[in-house]
Amino acid sequence: MNSVRKALRTGTLRKDTYERLVCEDCGRPLRTDDRGGVGWRRSCPDCGRTWKQLP
Ligand SMILES: [Zn+2]
Repeated sequence: MNSVRKALRTGTLRKDTYERLVCEDCGRPLRTDDRGGVGWRRSCPDCGRTWKQLP
């Protein structure tokens, strides 16, 4: 699973004007899923791709 940080760097994800993470391809804000460990799993509700976000 790619990290949020790397996806922001490569342009797969961007931040909108409210600092929310948005999938660049779909233009949708990401969902937050609890991974039950360190950090969060973020997913796009449209394309289903997931990214790992560390605190
Ligand atoms: Zn997407």
